[in-house]
Amino acid sequence: MIDYHIHTKRCGHAVGEMTEYVERALSVGLSEIGFSDHLPFPHKRDSGYTMALEELPDYVEEVERLRKQYPKIRIKLGIEADYFPDLEKETEKLIKAHPFDYVVGSVHFIDGWGFDISEQKEGWKGKDVDGVYRKYFKLLRQSATLSFFDIIGHTDLVKKFGHRPSVALEQEIEATARCFKEAGVSVEINTSGLRKPVGEIYPSAILLEAYYTQGVPIVFGSDAHEPKEVGQDFDQALLFARKTGYTEALVYEQRKVSGRYAL
Ligand SMILES: [Zn+2]
Ligand SMILES: [Zn+2]
Repeated sequence: MIDYHIHTKRCGHAVGEMTEYVERALSVGLSEIGFSDHLPFPHKRDSGYTMALEELPDYVEEVERLRKQYPKIRIKLGIEADYFPDLEKETEKLIKAHPFDYVVGSVHFIDGWGFDISEQKEGWKGKDVDGVYRKYFKLLRQSATLSFFDIIGHTDLVKKFGHRPSVALEQEIEATARCFKEAGVSVEINTSGLRKPVGEIYPSAILLEAYYTQGVPIVFGSDAHEPKEVGQDFDQALLFARKTGYTEALVYEQRKVSGRYAL
């Protein structure tokens, strides 16, 4: 299998050397991995959240060095970019300036509120949870229609702390799945939710079924922030994908789908 969601200590909230992440991938039997650390914010420096702009060239070079050092495993250069509706141009510019194999587009903020950040958990107090979910799905759809995100990350991250909508939101889910299909993006099955209060893979079964019905392709990601998390719970993710009906997942290279592998 392939793990396309791996961070590095450059983001300020992950630990371990990149070599340790690769070693772990080898030891758990992955055939390919991709680093996808947090892209610097286009508008501000936040050393606890993303790498600094000046660290980007070194990140790119280190992946290139690792490819030579570990010929037994394919190593891709990815990035996880935040979606900020008012910073689309700036984000695109940052992405296009580097030779990424794929870009994971992620919604972590709603109107500036980091709804999945532990320190901003207070922001949930008194919130209309259904409204938050609706806004979140709308942002997901907006992010997918841009041409510079290839994979949409953890597509129900809003559930991280266990907040659930009071209604099924079928229309939102269907609209989102259709939009992803039309936009030509894939979604990731992200196992990190199993390590969070919600205790579930992102996305939920209902969402993944909607993606499958619409023909949205998948990739897998552990969202590793420490070496031992690489490929974590991929057995569960694989069963989940198969049970939903998926028989293959995508391979990316130079911002294009370069292959598929059977599940
Ligand atoms: Zn992170
Ligand atoms: Zn993320």
